[in-house]
Amino acid sequence: MKAYEGRAAAVAGTGRDPVNLPMIRHWCEAMGDRNPAYAGPDAIAPPTMLQAWIMGGLDGHAGGRARPYEELLALLDEEGCTSVVATDCEQEYLRPLRPGDEVAFDTVIESVSERKTTKLGTGHFVTTRTDVRVGSELVGTHRFRILKYAPARRKQRERRPRPVVNRDNAGFWEGVREHRLLIQRCTACATLRFPWLPGCHACGCPDWDTVEAEGTGTVFSYVVMHHPPFPAFEPPYAIGLVELAEGVRIVSNVVGVPYDKVRIGMPVRLEFRRYDEELTLPVFQGVAQ
Ligand code: ZN
Repeated sequence: MKAYEGRAAAVAGTGRDPVNLPMIRHWCEAMGDRNPAYAGPDAIAPPTMLQAWIMGGLDGHAGGRARPYEELLALLDEEGCTSVVATDCEQEYLRPLRPGDEVAFDTVIESVSERKTTKLGTGHFVTTRTDVRVGSELVGTHRFRILKYAPARRKQRERRPRPVVNRDNAGFWEGVREHRLLIQRCTACATLRFPWLPGCHACGCPDWDTVEAEGTGTVFSYVVMHHPPFPAFEPPYAIGLVELAEGVRIVSNVVGVPYDKVRIGMPVRLEFRRYDEELTLPVFQGVAQ
């Protein structure tokens, strides 16, 4: 793979459009960048747009990728490094680009790393360097690094993330251990609050006691999680914002009904589900209508 270092990844590419004000304006709007240097008759392009001028769009560039780069990627695929993730990008700017500039570029494979082990899996970092020119003048370089890797095999049983227990919410988690869902109540004005907080949002009083939720509620809103998948969670699944009979709302899983049958207004009932030896969580059993 080292033999590919220094070989071409793209040759004699040209920007699909000359540097132009409409693209600059859209970019600045999207970025919220109001720098006056990017508007008006003497406008320059934001330097970080460098890559925008050399992107191929959906159809790609007329020339396309050079063969050595295609070969290198194929070689990595054969080694089992079939996944790819972009890791970082570095740019250098030699002079500002202005509307009307027509950019051309060449890309070389700058380096291919040894096989490395990362959290994603083991693989090789491939760095390409694109030299961007206007005429014969080098105006900037764009280094782009990808990791081509073999995905790490998933551990058989991932555990759910642990809740963060602190001074402000320890009482809630003690309640959960006893299968009681406790809601904080301000002792000054009796306002209920959930999730647990150090003070009353209605009157500011720091003193509180608790009331135990009787366990019924309705789905106030919900989402169905499809992507991305997280360890220990098997999509698709429904996450509800449940309004308890006491009036406060809690985010939790809606279980016991198919994810696509969860509806706003659906009655639910509290239950405590044990996920592993350390973790029990309040979830809500949906009652299909
Ligand atoms: Zn209060």
